[in-house]
Amino acid sequence: MLKILFDILFPRKCVGCGKVGSYFCPSCVRDIKQTDLVCPRCEKPSIGGQTHPICKRRFGLDGLWSLGVYQDPLRSAIGQLKYKGIKELAEILTDITIEYWAKYQPFVLDKIKKDRGVGWVVIPVPMHWLRANKRGFNQSNLIGQNLSKKLGLAYSESLKRIRYTKSQTKLKEKQRRQNIKDAFEISIPYTLDSKPSVLLIDDVWTTGSTLKECCWVLKRAGAKQVWALTLAR
Ligand SMILES: [Zn+2]
Ligand SMILES: [Zn+2]
Repeated sequence: MLKILFDILFPRKCVGCGKVGSYFCPSCVRDIKQTDLVCPRCEKPSIGGQTHPICKRRFGLDGLWSLGVYQDPLRSAIGQLKYKGIKELAEILTDITIEYWAKYQPFVLDKIKKDRGVGWVVIPVPMHWLRANKRGFNQSNLIGQNLSKKLGLAYSESLKRIRYTKSQTKLKEKQRRQNIKDAFEISIPYTLDSKPSVLLIDDVWTTGSTLKECCWVLKRAGAKQVWALTLAR
């Protein structure tokens, strides 16, 4: 009853076209432009988003998979999730990710399925508690939780942000790297002993400096492989 009343007072509107009924209508979901899959180090095309063998580094990412290009309607969906607090969008975007994964680029999914998820853990890129308190939630946590539930993988928030960093939005690549340096640590290292493969979650890949820094920390703590997964690139 309350839910019906709530739906009448605050109808769900599509983030793309504004049509009433759902937060992301099927036709706008089809409008999400797929990204070319690239190597996270050189950002040149690569099969399934794997890091080229020549680009591999000991503490570097092993691959990157992004749902789509950072443009509308995907950009507005991420914006409404983050800044308007429409948490339902986290689940919707996770569902779309899994659907696209299965349909178009099953490389990572194949890898995970091959060992039946054993050894894989989903870890979101953390937000500083100050920013998380202000927003009330971390969108990467929500996406990570949904993803782990739906894929039957372990989930852990063992990565912590130990330093408050300026927003990366207005910084150039070099400044971003400096801004994020030494901003993270692992709080529960034992997670990685039993689950050495990490699916690292963030909303947007811009220069990758945050995800690369997180990967460095995870691998130093014993992670064997780290794949980055972002909604947009
Ligand atoms: Zn729409
Ligand atoms: Zn490369």
